Order: sequence, then structure tokens, then C-alpha cells
Amino acid sequence: MKVAIIGGGASGLACAITIKRENEDIDVTIFEKLDQPGKKILATGNGRCNLSNFVVSEEYYNGDHEIIHTVLDDFDAVNALEFFNSLGLKIREEEGRLYPYSMNASNVVALLLKEAARLNIKINTDCKVESLDSSLTINNKYKFDKVVLALGGKAAPQHGTDGDGYKLIKNLGIKYQPISPALVQIKTEEDVRELKGVRFKGVLFLREEDDDDDKPIKFQEGELLFTDYGISGIPAMQLSGDIAQMTARGEKPLLNICFTPDLGLSDINEYLDNQIDRGLTGEEMLYGILNEKLAHYIFTKNNGDTNHIALDIMSLPFTAVGTKGYKEAQVTRGGVGSDELKKHSLETKKIKNLFITGELLNVDGTCGGYNLHFAWGSGIKAAKEIANNA
Ligand SMILES: Cc1cc2nc3c(=O)[nH]c(=O)nc-3n(C[C@H](O)[C@H](O)[C@H](O)COP(=O)(O)OP(=O)(O)OC[C@H]3O[C@@H](n4cnc5c(N)ncnc54)[C@H](O)[C@@H]3O)c2cc1C
Repeated sequence: MKVAIIGGGASGLACAITIKRENEDIDVTIFEKLDQPGKKILATGNGRCNLSNFVVSEEYYNGDHEIIHTVLDDFDAVNALEFFNSLGLKIREEEGRLYPYSMNASNVVALLLKEAARLNIKINTDCKVESLDSSLTINNKYKFDKVVLALGGKAAPQHGTDGDGYKLIKNLGIKYQPISPALVQIKTEEDVRELKGVRFKGVLFLREEDDDDDKPIKFQEGELLFTDYGISGIPAMQLSGDIAQMTARGEKPLLNICFTPDLGLSDINEYLDNQIDRGLTGEEMLYGILNEKLAHYIFTKNNGDTNHIALDIMSLPFTAVGTKGYKEAQVTRGGVGSDELKKHSLETKKIKNLFITGELLNVDGTCGGYNLHFAWGSGIKAAKEIANNA
């Protein structure tokens, strides 16, 4: 049996290795458009490759929960550890995040490729797949018994993923949920250029436009950073997928930043009263808790009115007008849903023997190793389905 895997990224490599391990008689060929497989993996986790997490559950994922279950039920953190141990990769844990022991993504790619070579997996690099027809013929030339679409999404096109997968599935009549960038920086309507470079620990709240209800849709706590166009940092990236979808629908989501998560309004008011008693009546009254640029921004915005200053320290409002684009994004939200797949399977309903894995599916994870975990897990899931039906 001849199997083609289109895309030599995280899910494609895990899929190819698992097929051969399950059944060495299956002939496996990877088609990779870049000059080497796994180039995006090298860029992950700032070159350290946060490849999974000790705590994997559906709450860390957005998208199609049937697919999330289908993959995670067979592939948890222990399975991920076993997979990497079987490659000879020792794993290190930092606050639940799993990394290669060397903290080098290049070791992950090197061991994946060593194992692929040991298993005689053919890897055609510099080989862009332009077409796939329903008889599973690639580029009008190479016919296969089974094909896996592991082309990734549209995020980070500089690493080979510029949305080719969506073109292939569209041509085959397979539908997918609208896509947008996720895990990316947020753009604000307010001009925050004077705050560029200010880093702080805080909480970012996301609310719907004209929301009278005080309850946010979501919130994230951690280190935030102002940029010349808006807000960055992990909490901003975690909320960006929702913001990209809301702004694509024409909405203007509201953001609030709390700079003092551990202080209440009465604490802030008491602090400000004490500062005034000390003779600190200008923006320097805020230097005890805020960075100087932030102190200037909040003091001048409120013309020195301490009641309003206290409220802004607790909940400085912004309007999100969108996010940075796919070039800056780490993942793609949206993609092929379970309505297009056989039940509890990654095989498409429309075309028998065609499988879809990784970011092309309607699943995206939060920061913390969840996207790579899903990529490995979905590749391994498709591989087992292929090998079991060989
Ligand atoms: C900068 C950055 C940092 C990240 N850090 C992390 C992290 O630390 N932890 C984490 O969990 N996730 C991280 N991610 C996300 C994670 O890398 C992806 O979600 C994951 O790689 C998706 O796996 P995939 O197999 O679906 O696709 P990819 O790994 O993107 O692989 C797809 C492959 O298909 C190839 N391809 C595309 N089109 C064609 C074509 N027409 N013909 C042939 N080949 C083609 C591409 O060149 C690519 O090699 C990061 C992403 C980025 C951009």
C-alpha cells in the first residue's frame, strides 16, 4: 500500500513515523514544499520547542470538540512523553510545559528525521503539492492508496504554511469553518505609541461591545506589553483568536487592563490619599505602583482626577480593532470540522482514504505546547487508522 503525506511538519512527521512503526510494509512518502521538513518546529517556543504540556484537556482548546475528543482520548501527555522517549528524546518540564531536555528545537527535528530515515520513509523536499484529485493523484502524476493532508494552516507563511491546504480541500468539495489568525498581537483603536515598550504584570479582560453586563467573556493574567499598535504578551495572544473572529464580524470588542490584580479599589484610593498627604500631587503620585510612562498616560487622560485615576488603574479601557495578521500569528483558528469527517476518525466522509491532521482541522490550542500536542496526536491518530485498515 502506498501512502502520501502532504506536509512534512509536526503532524506529517509523527504520522509517517507511526505508520511505518505499525506496519513496515506500507510505503510512505512525504511531500514537503520547503527545502527541509520541520522548519516551523525549529521556530517554536522561541527555538526551544514547547512540544506538549503535562496537563492536556479540552479546556485548553478552541474549535470542534468532537475532533478534540477524537484526538485527545488516544493521545494524552503520557502518550506524548512515550512518543518522544521512543525517539530517544529526553523531556524537561517547566511550569507544566514540556520541552526537549536540551531546550533546542533542532534536537526534536533531528531525532524525528533520524527515525524517519531508519524507517525508510521517503521525503521529497522542494516539492510543492499543487493539486490532489478525488482518485488521490498528486500533481496529476503520483497516485496513492491513501493520502494525509498535513499542510498546516495559514499562520506563519514564512515557515511554509500559506494556506495551500484550504485550496486543496476546497477543490475536493470539502468545507471548512472560516479561518482567522490566533495567538497574535492585538491592535487597539487608542493611540498607545507613547506606551511602547512598557511591560507589566496585569489582567486583560475581554468584553463584548456595548456590554452592560460586568462579566467579561474571558480574561487572562500575566505579563503584558504595549507596542506601537496595541497590546502584546501571552494574555493578549490568548485572547486574540476571539478578537480576530469578533472584529471579522464587524464587532468592536472592549478590553480592560487591571494593573493591580492583588489590590482592590479601596486599596488604590487609600494609596492615592497617602501620596497626596506626602505632597505627591502630580503624576509622580503614581510612581509607587506604575511605570513612569503609564503614570503619565493615566494621569493626563484623567486630568489628575484621583477618582477616575483609581478606576483606570483597576480597569483601563481599550477598544480592539483587530489583530496582527497571519505573518505574526502562531496558529490559525477555523478549518475542517467533524461534519466533514467520519465519526471518531480523521478520514473525510467525501473522499475515502483521505485523512486530515494538524492545524488544517478546526482546532486551535492556547499557549503552552497545546498546538504541537494536537499536531503530533492527530498525526498519530490518522496513522493508526491507516495502518489498521491496510
Ligand atoms: C513562531 C511560532 C512559534 C510556535 N510555538 C509553539 C510552541 O512552542 N508550542 C506549540 O504547541 N505550538 C507552537 N506553535 C504552533 C505549532 O507550530 C503549529 O500549530 C504546528 O506546527 C502545526 O502542525 P501541522 O503539522 O499542522 O503544520 P506545520 O507544522 O505548519 O507543517 C505543515 C508543513 O506543510 C508544508 N506545506 C505547506 N503547503 C505545502 C504544499 N503545498 N506542498 C507540500 N508541503 C506543504 C509546510 O512547508 C510545513 O512544513 C508555534 C508556531 C509559530 C509560527
